[in-house]
Amino acid sequence: MKEQLEQLQVEALEEIKQASTQKALNDVRIKYLGKKGPMTEVLRGMGKLSAEERPIIGELANTVRTTIQSTLDARIEEVKAIELEEKLKAETLDVTLPGRTLTPGHSHLLQQIIDEMEDLFVGLGYTIAEGPEVETDLYNFEMLNLPKDHPARDMQDSFYITEETLLRTHTSPVQARTMLEANGKPIRIICPGKVYRRDEDDATHSHQFMQIEGLVVDESISMADLKGTLEVFVKQLFGETREIRLRPSFFPFTEPSVEVDISCFKCGGKGCNVCKGTGWIEILGGGMVHPHVLEMAGYDSSKVSGFAFGIGVERMAMLKHGVDDIRHFYTNDLRFIEQF
Ligand SMILES: [Zn+2]
Repeated sequence: MKEQLEQLQVEALEEIKQASTQKALNDVRIKYLGKKGPMTEVLRGMGKLSAEERPIIGELANTVRTTIQSTLDARIEEVKAIELEEKLKAETLDVTLPGRTLTPGHSHLLQQIIDEMEDLFVGLGYTIAEGPEVETDLYNFEMLNLPKDHPARDMQDSFYITEETLLRTHTSPVQARTMLEANGKPIRIICPGKVYRRDEDDATHSHQFMQIEGLVVDESISMADLKGTLEVFVKQLFGETREIRLRPSFFPFTEPSVEVDISCFKCGGKGCNVCKGTGWIEILGGGMVHPHVLEMAGYDSSKVSGFAFGIGVERMAMLKHGVDDIRHFYTNDLRFIEQF
């Protein structure tokens, strides 16, 4: 029986040594120390022993049991530590891998131009006015001296929603609305925003584009005020040495009307590809608010006068940055957008 117990201990310790997982060690525990294990078997046979042998074998059995148990416990701790280390190793973050950086975005070039213009005009005491992009025929045309049969409507063919509702063809309806709301009081606004025309898209035309219009209404406003304002604006955007030139033109809502050119910022007036050899670049239209437009909005045109101008934001951006196709602004190609 003594040999049996000693043999049992040797075998158990060897199996414990070989076991490398917690599960395997648990199996060893059940095998040797469980109720159906060899230890129980041995102890059950103790009844057959003599009175002298019984305490000796009992003590030995106890020692064997304790040895197996403590070896098992120690090995379990060891295996636990190894398993934890392996788990940590497998889950380690490789901090040397480059992270995924979020590149910060920035304003679109067109928005940058608008921001720059807004800063300038707010500095001159203007406020910014906005209006709906879906407009009625009344505000888009009629209040601006473009009655239903007016031939100039052909230049601004639009997208109609109903016969009386359309996508606005210019930001001028914001002027009409502002004048009505002002109720005879002075006005100094700019209105930036998207406008729509039924154009064939090409390098210089888009069915959707942006305008910034300006409107000043007050007593004794003259053409000199318009010219002075435009000079400040042109020098701000295109440089201090730029000059402007006014040419007579026609718009239904202004009288007299002018087209405004700036001296070419590329060649300085000698003639180049940007100014098509003329030394001048056409940049905007404007004029004195037509007396009839003032009257329709409730002003007494014998007492007050005003000027208005309209600038194409895309054209401004194209000239300033040498962009050769208006469609680049709307295709959302990052190779283009990231340049500005
Ligand atoms: Zn030039």
